[in-house]
Parts: sequence; C-alpha cells; structure tokens
Amino acid sequence: MKDRFNREITYLRLSLTDRCNFRCRYCMPEGKLFNNTELTFDELYNICVCAVELGIKKIRITGGEPLCRTGVEDFCRMISNIEGLEELTLTTNGSLLADKAGELRNAGVSRINISLDTLKRDRFKELTGVDKFEDVIKGIETAKKLSFRQLKINVVLMKNINVDEISDFVELTKDNDISVRFIELMPFGNLNDFNNQYIPADVVLNKEPKLKLIKVSGVAQIYQKPGYIGTIGLIKPMSQKFCDVCNRIRITCDGKLKTCLHSAEEYDLRGLNGDLLKSTFVEAVLNKTDSHTLSQTCFSNSLRYMNQIGG
Ligand code: SAM
Ligand code: SF4
Repeated sequence: MKDRFNREITYLRLSLTDRCNFRCRYCMPEGKLFNNTELTFDELYNICVCAVELGIKKIRITGGEPLCRTGVEDFCRMISNIEGLEELTLTTNGSLLADKAGELRNAGVSRINISLDTLKRDRFKELTGVDKFEDVIKGIETAKKLSFRQLKINVVLMKNINVDEISDFVELTKDNDISVRFIELMPFGNLNDFNNQYIPADVVLNKEPKLKLIKVSGVAQIYQKPGYIGTIGLIKPMSQKFCDVCNRIRITCDGKLKTCLHSAEEYDLRGLNGDLLKSTFVEAVLNKTDSHTLSQTCFSNSLRYMNQIGG
C-alpha cells in the first residue's frame, strides 16, 4: 500500500485494549471511563490478515496495557502465524511481563519494548500511580534472559521529572545489550498541564557529550557511548518530526483505523469483511496526511488520548 506521498505502508500498531493497570500522568486523563467496546480477537485477527495481504510486514501489539487483556499470548500466536508477516513485536509497561514473557516468546513475539521513565521507586509511583517498580524490573530481567532481539527501554523525557536521570539511563547501556530510547513528550488533550513538561531530546546530547551517532534506524537516531555495549536512541516527534518517512498505521481496540497519530480522522473497521475491508484500508491510506502540525500548534488533533491509541 502506497499513499499519495509515495510512502509504502508496512507497519501496523494494533491496540488490544485501552484499559491499563497504570495511570501514567502524561498518557491517560484522570477518572477516564473505559469504553469497553474492544473487538474480539477473531475480529482483530481478520483485520490483521487483510492488512498483511495489503502489504503490512510488521505488527506491534500495544494498548493501554496489552498484557492486561486475557488471552494475549494465544492471540499473538495466531498473529505470528499469518503468512507474509515478517515481524511481531509488543510494547508493554512491563509490570505483568515476568509471568508472560516466556509464553509470548513461544508465541512468536520477536521483540519487546518496555516503557520505564524513571529508575527511582518513589518517582515511579508518583508518575504511574502504582507501586510496581520492582515488578517492571523483574519483567525486564526475565525478558533479558529469553531470546528476544535487542530489548528496548522507552523513556519519555519530562523537563522537571526525569531529565536528571538521563545519565543513569545511559549507564544501563554500559554492560547490558539493550537500547534505551528517549522519546519526546507529545501533547494530548489537557492532561493537567502535564504537556508543559516537554523538552527537546537533544538535552540527552548536552548531558552526555561523549555519545556518538552510529546510525539512523527508522524514526530513531542511534548513539553509543564509546566502550558501552548497548545503544541510546533519540526519537523526536516534536523537534525533528519524521512524517516524511512515516510507514505506519494504527488500529484502536474498538476497530478504528488511524493513519496519523495526531489526526482526528478515523475509519471504522468494525463489522467489515472481504472487499469492503480491503477498500477501506486502501482509501484510508490514500488519504493519509503528509504531516502533523504539533511543533507549530503544540496541539494534537487526535480525538483520543495515548492509552486509547497505543503510541
Ligand atoms: N502500556 C504500554 C506501555 O506503556 O508501553 C503500551 C501503550 S503506551 C500508550 C505506548 C507508549 O506511548 C509508551 O512508551 C508511553 O510511554 C508512550 N506515551 C504515552 N503518552 C505519551 C505522550 N504524551 N508522549 C509521548 N509518548 C507517550
Ligand atoms: Fe498505561 Fe502505557 Fe499509558 Fe502508562 S503509558 S498509562 S502504562 S498505556
């Protein structure tokens, strides 16, 4: 599937749920009621088969917290067996990973990204609303022992919250073959003025001037500190947007196809099959916008918060 700007769409981010056992303050508004209209696994599977037939090569399972959805392991096995799919990956907050990592690996998940914004237990509780720091660390340790491809730790940078921990995160890459990826905070709705915590990812290079650029991989600029075995990624949706190489689409747990994270445009896939499902995909991709306008407006047009999209 190519869009009007000649971008080949090969990457689908699939949200299994908007429920989550965390309440990260930059992701989910307080007191949100869940809509509970998740598509069934069979419905999601049919959509994925169609997407792969149309050229999707990689699917990332996300949420909300995908590991909160019962049966996620069996669903991953179904998806990884779709002929033509090259890679199945998953993004998680890590809290339920220690129990599930082995089964996910056996089900065909080849890579896992774990979100962790602080290495301090108290700060973690303050930021996520739950006291589950140790569970996340256990999840990371378990995943490290299994044969996933390079583990990624995603850190959302926040000006007055975790910038003082940049060097601690970089140190994790000294003896661990992991990739720590610093991601710029994006504005969604009005999250108690949390949106003003944004800081450009280049702050990492100011704090760690020895980092050397080694490559650009997808949307991330990859750095390494001399002598360290892991890597550092910078992802800059705000300060250096990557819309011109955007190859992704998203499907929400209630079956809405979004071709841009920050657009209000959604295509309802619920109940569609066969040619109608295919033509809806094709139409949506043809209408994919050339770029978002976040850095100019500091405002996302998305009608959803991140937990309802999946990142
Ligand atoms: N619950 C899983 C997790 O936390 O990894 C998967 C869903 S979460 C919405 C996916 C990613 O989006 C996480 O890495 C999270 O940190 C990131 N995220 C959420 N809100 C964000 C925001 N406002 N700006 C940038 N990244 C955000
Ligand atoms: Fe949940 Fe992930 Fe959002 Fe945190 S970032 S509230 S873990 S969906």
